[in-house]
Amino acid sequence: MTPLPPTLRFIERDWLSSNQMLFVEPDGATLIDTGYGTRADFTVALVERVLAEVGRAERGLTRLINTHLHSDHCGANAALQRRYHCPTLVPHAEFDAVRRWDEDALTYRATAQVCERFHADGFLSDGDEITLGGMVWRVHAAPGHDPHSLMLHCPEHRLLISADVLWQNGFGIIFPELSGNSGFAEQKAALELIASLDVGTVLPGHGPMFHDVPEALERAFARLAVIADPRRNARNALKALLKFRLLEQQQFDADRLAEELAGASVMTNAAALIGMSLDAAIAWALTELERQGQLRREGSRIFNP
Ligand SMILES: [Zn+2]
Repeated sequence: MTPLPPTLRFIERDWLSSNQMLFVEPDGATLIDTGYGTRADFTVALVERVLAEVGRAERGLTRLINTHLHSDHCGANAALQRRYHCPTLVPHAEFDAVRRWDEDALTYRATAQVCERFHADGFLSDGDEITLGGMVWRVHAAPGHDPHSLMLHCPEHRLLISADVLWQNGFGIIFPELSGNSGFAEQKAALELIASLDVGTVLPGHGPMFHDVPEALERAFARLAVIADPRRNARNALKALLKFRLLEQQQFDADRLAEELAGASVMTNAAALIGMSLDAAIAWALTELERQGQLRREGSRIFNP
């Protein structure tokens, strides 16, 4: 197993915060993705520590890049911008929404997730080439999980930064399908794109880095074949979003959830897709999560185990 090039650090986080990739530059460092907002202080401390380890404590972070703008991938952008005043590149299609801070376009309102406002100074587009840590990376559009998501591929080192398009076991929720847009076909095309690239190591948005790329692709294609049904996708999304909320808050009151989430259109759309009221859909998802050992109940109080 070839180790990562010395100018690249892979920082594995949990499922609430995305992983980070840190590139050592001649005159600073570039960070890709920043984790969830409620963990921003921890992320800043982590980045400070890694910068010190790679000899960039003084220069600090000189550039920030986001693969996509889900709140678990850009939640510490604002805190890192305060700390390092680093210019930030986002996917081209999201650039204007960030500049206007359009929380509907950025889907934070739709998912009832939090993300502190940050600034974007430039963008990356499909087909761009960018030098990171002295290596040339090509930018690939990879819609499916998110319509504007990007991946980064370094042919020379056979590395892929796959965001939530491919994990060792699966991939992220196919969000566009929850609002009646196409996503399954795009996800299939994105997986086919990965299969067509020369990749020996994947640095995913969540979970461990991995080398068994053909096997991971096989698992992902098989999973897509199973979930490529709007109702099934909606059921998965309800469970995943409630588990995410539980990871964020560690505990909540089941009786107040429907009220708290009434404005979250991703939740109400998912409930509608399976023909349930939001109340009933939440109750169903909590029962499923409990059955899978993903939560613990005491009366109406729900705990992350
Ligand atoms: Zn995502």
